[in-house]
Amino acid sequence: MKHFDVAIIGLGPAGSALARQLAGKMRVIALDKKRQCGTEGFSKPCGGLLAPDAQRAFIRDGITLPVDVIANPQIFSVKTIDVAAGLTRNYQRSYININRHAFDLWMKSLIPDVVTVHHDTLCRKVWREGDLWHVRFQVDGEEQHITARWLVGADGANSLVRRHLYPEHQIRKYVAIQQWFAEAHAVPFYSCIFDNAVTDCYSWSISKDGYFIFGGAYPMKDGQIRFEALKTKMADFAFHFGEPVKSEKCTVLFPSRWQDFVCGKENAFLIGEAAGFISASSLEGISYALDSAEILHKVLLTTSNSANQIYWRATRKLRLKLYSKILKSRCLTAPVLRQWIMKSGVSHIAQNHPILPPGTNLKESHPR
Ligand SMILES: Cc1cc2nc3c(=O)[nH]c(=O)nc-3n(C[C@H](O)[C@H](O)[C@H](O)COP(=O)(O)OP(=O)(O)OC[C@H]3O[C@@H](n4cnc5c(N)ncnc54)[C@H](O)[C@@H]3O)c2cc1C
Repeated sequence: MKHFDVAIIGLGPAGSALARQLAGKMRVIALDKKRQCGTEGFSKPCGGLLAPDAQRAFIRDGITLPVDVIANPQIFSVKTIDVAAGLTRNYQRSYININRHAFDLWMKSLIPDVVTVHHDTLCRKVWREGDLWHVRFQVDGEEQHITARWLVGADGANSLVRRHLYPEHQIRKYVAIQQWFAEAHAVPFYSCIFDNAVTDCYSWSISKDGYFIFGGAYPMKDGQIRFEALKTKMADFAFHFGEPVKSEKCTVLFPSRWQDFVCGKENAFLIGEAAGFISASSLEGISYALDSAEILHKVLLTTSNSANQIYWRATRKLRLKLYSKILKSRCLTAPVLRQWIMKSGVSHIAQNHPILPPGTNLKESHPR
């Protein structure tokens, strides 16, 4: 049985960043369910918008984004829609529109060869015996078993490591549903949709590489029915769907209390969404995945004792920031307050010259 300093479960943005940062400084093994390349196998459903905080993490690491990860087009604003009030506002945003699966594979490709990486591999079980963590996983149908001093759960919303460490821990969860359609809008756009009759979270749309992605986070019980109901309502806001070319679904965490953030114990650590690090106001999580990986990498390289306590303290600022997003989400999902903010017109950028679809007869579209 092989022994490592660190075993990382999951290579999304959090795990990949940590594996890269620890490479050559510790003996690291990393396991990931996604394949090394190609579009087959598991891919993470995501809006694929890289927020400024995520961009800042790349600046700190001196990393630039290759164009094959970037999606077309880049959009500078988000149409915010309150369905019940029939309000639409346009707010500036500085996201980078990316192809999320290509982004994840690119992040994995940055992990140096000194790290033992198993792709297309499912971690089945983790447990602690004495001072060591044991990890059982399957590679090419064969069971393998390793030990490690430190265990890192970077395995996302359904984290097996979090469930092992905190079997009683409950955090609010939604089902995120997305459908992809051939783009049928004259001008690509992002949108953020509030409809309290459908969900107390929110929905969104993103134009990407010739597709129109429509999605949202809904209560687990009848998420699909709510999603379809919203699609019908969006015809009033000139949303065009057609037949879906792809449908995807996954769990998304929605932290709603300070206790929802859990960082690990007994030399096991949680980073990224596994720790509950995702914004409740926008469901943006890549930046928190990158930031928590960066914090943990520093803790592991400088600390041998009490690493869990030090990591907990070191993530305080990040947790406070995420808590402020919980408060923000309470304002945004409260209809009266949201409508008051939208009606105030603050930060709204009106569109003076909307681009018309090709072939539009100007006389017809501007009758005098
Ligand atoms: C529909 C949707 C849209 C979103 N849109 C955005 C957005 O536009 N921008 C943004 O910043 N955030 C967005 N988020 C949030 C963001 O996707 C997550 O917060 C982010 O991916 C968390 O990164 P992570 O590395 O912690 O976990 P993940 O990205 O979930 O990565 C965990 C990885 O672990 C692996 N894994 C899991 N279990 C196992 C196991 N047992 N064995 C081996 N491997 C395993 C999987 O391969 C998985 O890819 C969105 C989320 C959803 C659901």
